[in-house]
Amino acid sequence: MYRMTNQKMFLYKLIKTFSSFFDTYQIYENVTEKKKKIGLATIYRFLNKLEKDGEIHSFVCGNKKVYSSNKTNHVHYKCERCGKVKHITIKNLDFLSESMDDVCHFQIELAGICLECKNIAKANNY
Ligand SMILES: [Zn+2]
Ligand SMILES: [Zn+2]
Ligand SMILES: [Zn+2]
Repeated sequence: MYRMTNQKMFLYKLIKTFSSFFDTYQIYENVTEKKKKIGLATIYRFLNKLEKDGEIHSFVCGNKKVYSSNKTNHVHYKCERCGKVKHITIKNLDFLSESMDDVCHFQIELAGICLECKNIAKANNY
């Protein structure tokens, strides 16, 4: 599919081992552990290219960019009281069939009062 150098082939295979989300630094850590000499800039450029080619999807998680080769959505639930952020997986994607345009990936930010905070509120009230 691609003509790749050994370095890029190594990176490509490494990316496929992540079943969930990863960031540039996690890839870099793996590369370093395996004693490969691939710089952050190379990794960054390679991820950018894969993203442009639609091989991986990117999302904003907190203050960093995360990628995934097999997850097409990234959902945050943020508690407005304690500020905790949870990741939620959406399994039913039926609503996407309503869309006329092709959807590659998407991100949703949900907010509310989490169960823990609700329980604390309950405990204090009764
Ligand atoms: Zn995508
Ligand atoms: Zn996230
Ligand atoms: Zn909370």
